[in-house]
Amino acid sequence: MKKINVTKSFLPPLDEFVAYLENIWESGNLTNQGPLLTQLEEQLSKKLDVNNIQIVSNGTIALQIALRALDITDGEIITTPFSYVATTSSILWERCTPVFVDIEPHTFCIDVKKIEAAITPQTKAIMAVHVFGYPCDVEAIEAIAARYKLKVVYDAAHAFGAKYKGRSLLDFGDISTCSFHATKPFHTSEGGAVVARNAEVSRRLNLIKHFGHVGDDHYTLGINAKASEFQAAMGLCNLKYIDDIITRRKAVHELYESLLDSRFYRPAIASYTQHNYAYFPVLFQDDKETLDVMRVLNAKKKLTSQNFYP
Ligand SMILES: *Cc1c(COP(=O)(O)O)cnc(C)c1O
Repeated sequence: MKKINVTKSFLPPLDEFVAYLENIWESGNLTNQGPLLTQLEEQLSKKLDVNNIQIVSNGTIALQIALRALDITDGEIITTPFSYVATTSSILWERCTPVFVDIEPHTFCIDVKKIEAAITPQTKAIMAVHVFGYPCDVEAIEAIAARYKLKVVYDAAHAFGAKYKGRSLLDFGDISTCSFHATKPFHTSEGGAVVARNAEVSRRLNLIKHFGHVGDDHYTLGINAKASEFQAAMGLCNLKYIDDIITRRKAVHELYESLLDSRFYRPAIASYTQHNYAYFPVLFQDDKETLDVMRVLNAKKKLTSQNFYP
């Protein structure tokens, strides 16, 4: 039997990708904010209805340069333990201290009622995750951040195409980041994005991702977080299919919902959100039940994985 992987990547028709490759061969442009990357940024900006979107080399460097652009180089960052390791590791990599706040049972996102108790004089920011594309309580987080003068970074790696009250989930916080990794619904093989609410922060992000310099003028410490024309080509191919991908995922989601017993808990999709159906999280009673179900479902095909394990 053919193996089906739980995170099988979408691949566009090969001839469509080859057409972009021919374009690259003709232009000789391989990277450094090439024309395909600029084109993809324009299309994403329209598609997601956000300003100041910049594509970067991956979703982890996006989190790291977000902290740099907001001048957060030490202190505590309030975050969630229920995420992929990159959320916490990017905080540690930037030599800040993650302070974990528990999650809410109905969204699996950070519990906003518990954030204030975790704030200390060393707190600089809140880094929350729209886990599985379910939105955080963005309004409560914004109010807390304003009251305590904290920066907000959203790890929106799972939230491509998701909306909160009609507004893109990538349009909240000082900066939202996204991952365009091959396992995400919209991907550029490797890749990611930063979306800044403020044009000055966006300018700083742009400088930092290009080694901190423009021509011979060096302004700040930077790094290489650029995406190549090959990544842009993959993105341009895939973006054409993203509505179709999400529609097909929605149909599968609805089928699972209709067949799965209500004793298996899964978060509800709130009426004020538009979901992207990137994941179908199910919460089991205990480890034994989880492992039993996984053993059966994965015996023939790898249909499930334990998030975020260990
Ligand atoms: C995928 C992911 C990342 C990291 O993105 P990469 O593009 O793989 O570096 C960060 N946070 C979360 C929640 C993710 O799922």
